[in-house]
Amino acid sequence: MKACLLRAPAAIETNPLEYGDVAAPEPKSGEVLVRVRACGVCRTDLHVIEGELPPRKSPVIPGHQVVGIVERQGDKAQRFGIGDRVGVAWLHRTDGTCEYCKANAENLCDNPTFTGYSVDGGYAEYLVAPEDFIYAIPTGFPDEQAAPLLCAGIIGFRSLRLSGIRAGGRLGFYGFGAAAHVAIQVARHWNVQVCASTRDARHQKLALELGAAWAGGTFDEPPEKLDAAIVFAPAGEIIPAALKALKKGGVLVLGGIHMSPIPSFNYELLYQERVIRSVANNTRKDGEDFLRVAAEIPIRTRVQIFPLHEANRALNALKNDAIPGAAVLRVSP
Ligand SMILES: [Zn+2]
Ligand SMILES: [Zn+2]
Repeated sequence: MKACLLRAPAAIETNPLEYGDVAAPEPKSGEVLVRVRACGVCRTDLHVIEGELPPRKSPVIPGHQVVGIVERQGDKAQRFGIGDRVGVAWLHRTDGTCEYCKANAENLCDNPTFTGYSVDGGYAEYLVAPEDFIYAIPTGFPDEQAAPLLCAGIIGFRSLRLSGIRAGGRLGFYGFGAAAHVAIQVARHWNVQVCASTRDARHQKLALELGAAWAGGTFDEPPEKLDAAIVFAPAGEIIPAALKALKKGGVLVLGGIHMSPIPSFNYELLYQERVIRSVANNTRKDGEDFLRVAAEIPIRTRVQIFPLHEANRALNALKNDAIPGAAVLRVSP
């Protein structure tokens, strides 16, 4: 099969993904073989490729927002039929036995594997995944539109939940890429007012088009204090600015898997019971709940489509803030 292979982490400017032929995977017991139709491009892929996350498998095929068709079932796999359209996301498998799994916090599992990081992902014509960890994709979403729902969408949704925001509240977004452009649609559906702070003028424009009450630069102060905020950009220097914009008791959620160092700041920015918390991965319930809400709204993703062999170009564009919405690789029609 054709795939994009990362042999060793390197700056994306050096185009480290090699497009070529590799052996197609075989589904093991409880797994399905998925023929990939589309795979979203996520900032986490960039962190994997550039080595900001320590390598777990080498070489590796990145990609964890996969929409495809069940091509074959491994032994004992029976949840999906051949030809069913499914989604494969970041959480590839958990052990199901650790204290976190037993406490309904499988996102914090002690022994997880991750798609496109510790196992091969969707920048390829085929991948395998455990049937218990994949999703039915609601009808009504074209393949390319559905792909960004599987990480940008699910993680944005979990970030919204952890922010504790309620109807009528005011929520800040710092960074306005793939996750934020989906999360704002959920927030608006919940009757939450959104203020978007982002350095790129095109992203500010997209935020306003999607219903933001205000959009400005990353370090511009929103017109009114925020009940909660979500930092989507992987830049630690945003945190003091975001804390400054929060009301007393406000919650600051960090939505990324990696962030540059956080500068020191005065305690008064945190005092008055402000809270900072991170988001790590997602549970399957987050995914199921989000996909149901996404179909109800329905969410419309803005996607820029690249062919599979141009994955390096898509990732370079992502790094340069040149994607309004989400980048998606089209693998097969
Ligand atoms: Zn576990
Ligand atoms: Zn992701």
